[in-house]
Amino acid sequence: MRIASIETFLLEAPIQTGFGWSQGWADKRHVGLVKLVTEDGTVGWGEGLYGPSARIVHEEFAPLLLGADPMQRNALWQKMFHLFYNGNVAGGIGGSAISAVDTALWDIAGKASGLPVWALLGGKVRDRIAVYATGLYYTEENLASDGRVIPQRLLDEARMYVELGFTGMKTKVGGLPLAQDVRRVAALRDAIGPDIFLMADANQAYNATTAIRIGRELADLDIYWFEEPVNAKDIEGYLQVKAALPMAIAGGEGLRTRYEFKDYVGRRAVDIIQPDVVNVGGITEMHRVAAMANAFGILCNPHVWGSPIMIAASLHVAAAVPECPPARTPRPYQQEPVMEFDRTPSPIREGIAEPFDQAGGFLEVPNGPGLGVEMDETAVRKLSVDTQKTGK
Ligand code: MG
Repeated sequence: MRIASIETFLLEAPIQTGFGWSQGWADKRHVGLVKLVTEDGTVGWGEGLYGPSARIVHEEFAPLLLGADPMQRNALWQKMFHLFYNGNVAGGIGGSAISAVDTALWDIAGKASGLPVWALLGGKVRDRIAVYATGLYYTEENLASDGRVIPQRLLDEARMYVELGFTGMKTKVGGLPLAQDVRRVAALRDAIGPDIFLMADANQAYNATTAIRIGRELADLDIYWFEEPVNAKDIEGYLQVKAALPMAIAGGEGLRTRYEFKDYVGRRAVDIIQPDVVNVGGITEMHRVAAMANAFGILCNPHVWGSPIMIAASLHVAAAVPECPPARTPRPYQQEPVMEFDRTPSPIREGIAEPFDQAGGFLEVPNGPGLGVEMDETAVRKLSVDTQKTGK
């Protein structure tokens, strides 16, 4: 089996109601996809491209991928990585380009062998993965009033997640004055009651001192984990925050490769790592990072913000990683992984394949060959604002 063609799609879709976080505002959604086709017509899909990374796929990776055996995932991963001089420039868009291609190779390997990706990873240790709802972003009213207005629809959204069966959800901090952010989280805690896991994500908005200051107040609201309290590369800041606060500290969604993760794990700068399969280096590298963290007693809760391809890829890895640490009755949040389930508006997530749906706070792990996702290619092409192809 040989790779015959590589196609990339940059998808874009406007959304009706925008939403904000500490670093930005979304009124459109974007997803980058790669489609690899073999000479015998086997198709693999992967996700992980930003604008310039599609160029990397066609200009840098295509010469080594076209004509190569897609079953040789480890060797192809290493060759892509080595193209960036052993990863010294593989951060950012380079890591995402590797991620997209790697995930597509796993999809092909599964389809060619008639097995789901989890089986190729050594089998699954759970059939379903606990998920938490990601939503509860800043709204226009919220930001325009500098936090003085807590919109009713924010509280309604939180109650809706409880009604849908979620046992956990995540909101944002870092975009308002500290006191207003605390008041907003307190209103959410009031709305959902004491029995639901509530997490707060600052998206790197604070330095260590400020993160500790707000973190103490968030701890009083029983925030289960505090995500990206400081700049993603400020490992000393993470250590300072972790030493000062009682709740779990989480991070790592933007890190690429096991080399970027190793110090966060080895120095115990986080309690929970959140590798993102479209950044870290695809299924191959996410599995390695998860195994490394597992040995250190650090939970691996995948960061997920994309299409059904990304959701499926994350589910397969999460299914294959043992509980952390082992326990007779492993539980989500304690020993079992808890995956992010983005509930913000996304015509791409809902429109290019059968959308994933949770039941009772869990997603079933796909059992079809490869990623187990049936793509609607017409929808992909319709949403794509930039399509490029190399090969036959
Ligand atoms: Mg985050």
